[in-house]
Amino acid sequence: MVVQSVVLKRTFELYKEEYEEAALRVLNSGWYILGREMAEFEEKFAAYMGVKHCVALNSGTDALILALRALEIQPGDEVIVPAGTYIASVIGVTENGGTPVFVDMDAYMEINVDAIEAKITEKTKAILPVHLFGQCSQMDRIKEVAKKYNLWLVEDCAQCHGSEFDGQLAGTFGDIGCFSFYPTKPLGAMGDAGAIITNDDALAGRVRLLRNYGSKIKYHNEIRGVNSRMDEIQAAMLKVGLKHIEEGIESRRRQAQMYMEGIKNPKIMIPPVHQNVYHVYHLFPILAKNREKFQEYLSQNGIVTQVHYPIPPYVADCYKDWGYAWSDFPNAQRYAKQELSLPIYAGLPDEEVKYVIDVINRY
Ligand SMILES: *Cc1c(COP(=O)(O)O)cnc(C)c1O
Repeated sequence: MVVQSVVLKRTFELYKEEYEEAALRVLNSGWYILGREMAEFEEKFAAYMGVKHCVALNSGTDALILALRALEIQPGDEVIVPAGTYIASVIGVTENGGTPVFVDMDAYMEINVDAIEAKITEKTKAILPVHLFGQCSQMDRIKEVAKKYNLWLVEDCAQCHGSEFDGQLAGTFGDIGCFSFYPTKPLGAMGDAGAIITNDDALAGRVRLLRNYGSKIKYHNEIRGVNSRMDEIQAAMLKVGLKHIEEGIESRRRQAQMYMEGIKNPKIMIPPVHQNVYHVYHLFPILAKNREKFQEYLSQNGIVTQVHYPIPPYVADCYKDWGYAWSDFPNAQRYAKQELSLPIYAGLPDEEVKYVIDVINRY
């Protein structure tokens, strides 16, 4: 049996007619940018999240860049980020000239909340937790620290649509929540897309200006902006996806449950999940000491897996000048060396999950 790590066509086929109808509706409308579809998606996503504003953008990376720009993060400012994350979390900081200050990971593969305070200096302006793999971070404690030091709280929600901490949705704890709708994410478009959510009128207004050349009225450019609008087609795709988001999360959670109950191999470690978190399993990470050998074994049995992420941002080539060593963040280093993501997505057949479990248990 061959098991791909993700097959987007299967997710599409779950709601094929709705997607096709929505795409044709936009094509036939003759209106492709800054139109009704985007406005409706913004309204629906804000309602789903229970917040006042959603501003639809081009990508999750842009959401992070423009969120921090709206908060006026600039050269000299420090932003606290987890050491083990996707590089886009850090790009949001560096594109504004800010300096990321890394905090190591904990046993849950989240930012180590106990280590945040020691990293705060006079230059610290914001904390940027990343709800990695679909698991919302321990937001009560992170919020407490942000409040104590009067810091902005910006959430990287690129992997955690629908995830909750203590019954509250990820993205609604901070000043601004940044989402990606990259096709593989728990809510995915059919191309690049992203958004920010916030309850702050002024912040929402600023991001709205920033995404459209800095202008509200055509040719009246109030601030220095960029072009980062969500296409009408993507907004229409996302309206279909949002309608079915719970089904997608439920199937991911069921697959994760199957892995957790089924995998019984002492060579494979499944990281713990917080009890007070509703995990949406954007990914299903496991840890294996000799990962390359294990990945090769899976591959020989037809199972395709991915690593999230083999090179943490603090040692990325593009940030070499910071001079970090791999061992500066031992947990992030360990996860980069041992993590492997098993297939998980809406539309993945149970037989394939069972096959993966079986192959792992025979390793
Ligand atoms: C996907 C992702 C992003 C970036 O989103 P894009 O839409 O691909 O630009 C940012 N942060 C994290 C944690 C992500 O997984």
